[in-house]
Amino acid sequence: MLPSFFDSLVQLIARTSTDLPPDVRHAMGAALATEAPATRAGQALTIIAQNVDQAASCDGPICQDTGMPTFEIKVPVGANQIWMKQQVREAIAEATRRGKLRPNSVDSINGANSGNNLGPGTPIVHFEQWERDAIEVKLILKGGGCENTNAQYALPLELDHLGRADRTLDGVRKCILHAVWKAQGKGCSPGAVGVCIGGDRTSGYLHAKQQLFRTLDDTNPDPRLAAIENAVMSAANELTVGPMGFGGQTSLIGCKIGALNRLPASFFVSVAYDCWAFRRLGVTLDAHSGAIAFWLYREGETPSVPMLTPEQLAAGFPCTGSEVRLQAPISESQIRSLKVGDVVLISGRMFTGRDAVHAHLMKHEPPVDIRGGVLYHCGPVVVKAVKDDGPASSKPRGEGEWKVTAAGPTTSIREEPYQADILKRYGVRVVIGKGGMGAKTLAALKESGAVYVNAIGGAAQFYARCIDRVAGVSLLEFGTPEAMWHLDVTDFPAIVTMDAHGNSLHQDIEAASGDRLHTVAG
Ligand code: SF4
Repeated sequence: MLPSFFDSLVQLIARTSTDLPPDVRHAMGAALATEAPATRAGQALTIIAQNVDQAASCDGPICQDTGMPTFEIKVPVGANQIWMKQQVREAIAEATRRGKLRPNSVDSINGANSGNNLGPGTPIVHFEQWERDAIEVKLILKGGGCENTNAQYALPLELDHLGRADRTLDGVRKCILHAVWKAQGKGCSPGAVGVCIGGDRTSGYLHAKQQLFRTLDDTNPDPRLAAIENAVMSAANELTVGPMGFGGQTSLIGCKIGALNRLPASFFVSVAYDCWAFRRLGVTLDAHSGAIAFWLYREGETPSVPMLTPEQLAAGFPCTGSEVRLQAPISESQIRSLKVGDVVLISGRMFTGRDAVHAHLMKHEPPVDIRGGVLYHCGPVVVKAVKDDGPASSKPRGEGEWKVTAAGPTTSIREEPYQADILKRYGVRVVIGKGGMGAKTLAALKESGAVYVNAIGGAAQFYARCIDRVAGVSLLEFGTPEAMWHLDVTDFPAIVTMDAHGNSLHQDIEAASGDRLHTVAG
């Protein structure tokens, strides 16, 4: 029964996680060409481009959050879908074992990570029959940061900065722009949106996500929807949210809209936001062997075109000479000398901590002394080191028992209920994350003498290369993404976006882009 089906699925999952499709590379290349290299936006996009090339060259995950695997499978009439679904599950477990996917499936009642990406609801698999003698498998890996920025609107309603959105296509346009503005950098902008007009609350979100299977450069066959897509693209890129919400010219790389019929009483607009790490691929399989006949979204089997030249890739982080070097543990006076906009290069020991660690620290002392230290909002991909399977790299990565294969920042705002207390109780000097934090944390930074620095979301390969070794791990019972990893790093770059003087770049950009939202789209 389809002897090559399993291997084809493993190949599809691995490549989707590690090699960005050509249309997304092209859109990100255009964004890179738009931003001046020495700006925050330019530096962020250069790191992203390096990260994309590094991931492809070492077959490592583009982003440490390998997302919710969602399969759309078309099969000939009579195909055994029960067997196929089991093969999909086994392929997901195998790709996880190989470090191509991070264990991401968590029991919603007790918080336990299944460790293999299998569990109720994961992976998501949709089947459809068609009258062709072939199997088509499409896969999207959409991470939590961007998933959390999805939005659903029930029209008519009043929107910040935009006024009333009626049950019209203009009301739809306003909702989409509002969603892009609201996302700021939390979904690792520049992102793309899939949109559904109509449906019910459930089918609307599903149809919106399905729009993300369209290529970024296609044209909507419905001219009315094509017109809104174009209008949204123009207006969104005038908002100056920019890459990672740092400000800049590119906030959106795609807008794809579909429509479903609705009930007379309902008018939903559902927006599925995907980040720049827009991992979506597909294959057409021989219906009798399950072997890959050809790849979708790619031109044949031609290798991906690198985003940077070898010289640009080798150059590493684009320093301007004004960077501030921080060596952990860090003094309060050095922290108080920093201001929003400063680029820092951090060396020494840092500790990862995300949701489970933060909740734990509210009730228990830290397992190690983190005073003067650096707390990294990160759920890395960490595997047991095997001597000869390491990806090509000029630096050893995660020597010893554990090897970090991907280590970008996670969305920080989730830790807002905890962060202020942790800063004050345990004397943390630097919090690294992405997307910024709220007013309570900003006040605590000022009170305790600490800063929040924004790393580049999704740049998991780039940051993994800043890690010299895994020095230890605590709280491993929370699962590898949620454990507290002790990482020794060199020259880890990030930008101060919330300082110890009460300033927040995130607040400033949100306010300025809100004003622009009113001007360009109101
Ligand atoms: S790039 Fe950002 S939003 Fe996308 S999966 Fe990675 S961390 Fe999440």
